[in-house]
Order: sequence, then C-alpha cells, then structure tokens
Amino acid sequence: MKADVQQSDVLVIGAGLAGLAAAVALSSSGATVRVLERKPYVGGRAYSYPHPALDEVIDSQHVLLGCCTNLIDLCRMSGADRHIRWYDRILFLEPGNPARESPIEPGALLSPGHSAVSFLRAPMLTLGDKARIAMGLLEFLRGVPASDAEAFSTWLKRTGQTERAIRHFWEPVIVGALNDTFERCSTRYAGQVFFESFMKSAEGGRLGIPTQPMSAFYGPVSELAERQGAVLHLRSSVDMLARAADGVWEARTSDGKVHRAASVVVALPFEQTARLLETLPEAEPARSQVLPHIAQFTHAPITTLHLWFDRDVTELDHAALLDTRIQWMFNKTRIRRAEPAPAVEQGQYLELVISASFAELHQGREEILAAGVAELASFFPAVREAKVVKSGVLKEARATFSVTPGLDAYRPQQARASAGLFLAGDWTRTGWPSTMEGAVRSGRLAAEAVAKACGGARTFVSPDLPPAGLMRLLAR
Ligand SMILES: Cc1cc2nc3c(=O)[nH]c(=O)nc-3n(C[C@H](O)[C@H](O)[C@H](O)COP(=O)(O)OP(=O)(O)OC[C@H]3O[C@@H](n4cnc5c(N)ncnc54)[C@H](O)[C@@H]3O)c2cc1C
Repeated sequence: MKADVQQSDVLVIGAGLAGLAAAVALSSSGATVRVLERKPYVGGRAYSYPHPALDEVIDSQHVLLGCCTNLIDLCRMSGADRHIRWYDRILFLEPGNPARESPIEPGALLSPGHSAVSFLRAPMLTLGDKARIAMGLLEFLRGVPASDAEAFSTWLKRTGQTERAIRHFWEPVIVGALNDTFERCSTRYAGQVFFESFMKSAEGGRLGIPTQPMSAFYGPVSELAERQGAVLHLRSSVDMLARAADGVWEARTSDGKVHRAASVVVALPFEQTARLLETLPEAEPARSQVLPHIAQFTHAPITTLHLWFDRDVTELDHAALLDTRIQWMFNKTRIRRAEPAPAVEQGQYLELVISASFAELHQGREEILAAGVAELASFFPAVREAKVVKSGVLKEARATFSVTPGLDAYRPQQARASAGLFLAGDWTRTGWPSTMEGAVRSGRLAAEAVAKACGGARTFVSPDLPPAGLMRLLAR
C-alpha cells in the first residue's frame, strides 16, 4: 500500500516549548510548517491533564523568572502572559508555631544591592552565614564562570559556606532551580541563577506563576502558530527519520504517514532524540556526531503532592519551606483566584514540590503523602485540624536533565552537520539549564539556523534583560 505523503518547508518534531517556539518563529517568516506531536496535547513536560480518579485537572506547577526573556516574549506574542501572576517577594519559612518568616524582596537600594536590606534582616541566617554568602556572591558579581567544570559542592567548600547558609539559602534556591544535588550541578549554572535573578536587576528576580493549568496556559502559543499557518498533528509519533534520494527529509509516523520537508527540527528530549537518530544510517553525521554526546546526559526527578483540604490552611500564595523534603508550597486556590472557574468551591488546594526527588521515586504514594502532610503541618498548624478531602502524587522521573560539571562540551548546537537537520530542546546548547526559557531559546535558535541555511538571516532570540543600577558598571 502506498504511504500517505504530506509536504512542507519545515517539519518540527515535538510540540513542547522548544517545538512550539520554533514553529511560531518559522511560520511568522512565511515558511510552511508542520508540527508532529506524539501526545494529544501540546506543551510537552509543561502539561496538565484531567485526572480521572480525582476529577481535577492537575499539573506540576511550573514557575518562571523575570530574566526568562524569550519565554515571556513568546507568552506576550500569544496573549498567554495575561495568565501569569507576578510576585516580587519570596518568603522562606522555618517550621514552628508560628513558622518563622524570612521575606526576601527588593528595596530602595540599587542593584546588586536591591534585596540586601531584606537579606540582612532575614532571621533564617546568622550574621556569620550572611557574611559567607555575601563573600560567595561576589564571585558572580561580574557574571558567571566561563567554564562549567567545577561542581557546586566544591564551590561551597572553597568559599567556606556554613552549614546553615547551605541549608537555608543555597539549597532551597539551587536544588529548586537546577533540580539536582550540589555534586551534580556545575557552579556555572548555579552562579547564573544568582547572577540573573538575585544580582543583575530586581526585574530579573520576579517570580511568575501561571494561573491556569499548564496545557491551557500554553494553548494560545500553539493557536498563534496555527493562525500563522502552521499545521499541528497531535497523536503523531515519529518512529523513523530518513533522507530521501532527492535530499529531502522524511519522517514516518506510527499511523503510517510520511511527512516530507527540506528542513526538519527535532525538538525532543535527549533520550527521544537518541532513539530517532538511531533510525538514521550509521554514516549520517547527525547520528555519528550527536549520539555519543547524548550518552553524557542524565535525568533528575520531581515529585509533586496535590492536597485538597476541607478548609483554608494558609493565607500565603506560595512559600519556600526550609528544613524539609518539600522545597516549595503553592496554594493553587489562591494563585488561580482570578480565573473564571475557582479551583475548589470551598477549602484549599495546595501543591507541594519535592525537587531532585530520587528517594521518593522508590516510595509508595501513602508514604509520600503522610510525610508531606506531616511536614506541612509543622508550618501551618491548621493542617492538623483540616481534613484532606482528596490527594494525588505525581512522580516525573525524567523531569529535567542535570547540568552536571563538564556537560557544556556535549550540548549540541542547533545546526548539525547533516544538512537540513536541526536540533532543539532544553538540553541543546542554550547557556541555560533545563527550563522553559532554555526550551524556548533552543527553538528560536533552531529557527534562526533554519532561516540561515535557507539564505535568510533572521533574529528570533530576544536579548537578555539589561543590568540595572550599579550592575551597569560591574557586569561583564
Ligand atoms: C515536574 C516538572 C516541573 C518543572 N518545573 C519547571 C519550572 O518550574 N520552571 C521551568 O522553567 N521548567 C520547569 N521544568 C522543566 C521544563 O518543563 C522543561 O525544561 C521544558 O518544558 C522542556 O521543553 P522541551 O520542548 O525541550 O521538551 P519537552 O517538553 O519534553 O517536549 C518534547 C515533546 O516531544 C514529544 N515527543 C516525544 N517523542 C516524540 C516522537 N517520537 N514524535 C513526536 N513527538 C514526540 C513529547 O510528547 C513532547 O511534547 C519542569 C519539568 C517538570 C517535568
């Protein structure tokens, strides 16, 4: 039987943020674009789904920062930015009744000192801890280290960080942002988190939280690509990639269709990219050059607990919880309060996030829930009186790739040696860790590379935020 063949200028494989960003960029410049996505929804790992037993749409809360210029730009272009709630203040809580609060927020001082007053007042750290932290941060005053060879655990020792500074400052921020242990995070990326969000400008450190479930939140982005002419095929899993005799790329989907295009952007996570590249002939440069590098990549997990209480247990929208397995509490009822449909009729829906949750991967649902509720009660005593009406646990074993020391040398550029084949995805060379911003940057970089290969120079990547205050003089 003859295969059903569809032709376009560019094929984008994967409708995560990398694929969507590439599709929006390329369709805006007049190319005919076809997007092939395995799942019945877009957004990739930043997804939500209706949980049948809970009768709720659930997701793992994703957050962004003001320094995520490409992600914010894509959200603005599509109108998704209307559903981001912005916060200037981050609250660190220590267990107790009442829980001790350390708010970190910008004040009147110029950058890099914009958060200095709240930092100096924060009771979660002693003066000695703060002095060590300040000395350490000086290393990132001018920018991040050029090399990613050093592990952050080595840096903490080298700069003499105290045990409490590690527990109450470096750990919540770095494990939360990079989702792995200090040994498996390079100082370069840890430094980038602090440089971009804590020192360069107050705007860069603003915390943005989508107020809709993630798939609904990113709906406008795929609609924008479609309005510009891109064709989206959901439930279309690409099983095989080949280059035809005429040099055109062919992607075969599991339903037997063949999609042909002069250029193909493979916008998949690293392990799925490897699977697809393995279907190419061994001599194909994209296969022989990229596959050995992919072997250097590793995953880290995130576990989220979803708790519906019969009453209000906290007035906070979110908080970093110290001295626990839980890194972050999101009060989804309050965060979503402006949306037309309230998350719950009465009571509160909280999500608890455990980053780098290697231990929880091996634990059962009940064990994780019991530990999480007990920890939550040590911050919010009302939890002890409240009833958990329903609950869920979401384990994402392959949530992020780890920015292990030395990995930069293996992160591939978006343009590959195989003509017409381009890579995207948060794991490709973006200068960012495993984040939505990294994914969008990769998609835009791939789109720039496609445009260049076709003879037209286009810029799709947004500039970084400019340094503010004294950082205008200090930052490299
Ligand atoms: C629980 C969790 C919490 C996170 N929290 C944050 C956060 O707070 N902030 C942040 O910035 N980042 C966060 N991240 C990371 C962020 O989600 C990712 O970095 C980003 O979404 C990656 O986008 P991507 O497009 O590179 O890859 P993906 O999102 O993985 O997209 C790849 C797409 O390709 C599709 N696909 C796979 N194989 C095929 C195939 N053969 N054919 C067709 N399609 C295929 C997949 O279905 C998917 O849609 C989190 C991730 C998780 C899992």
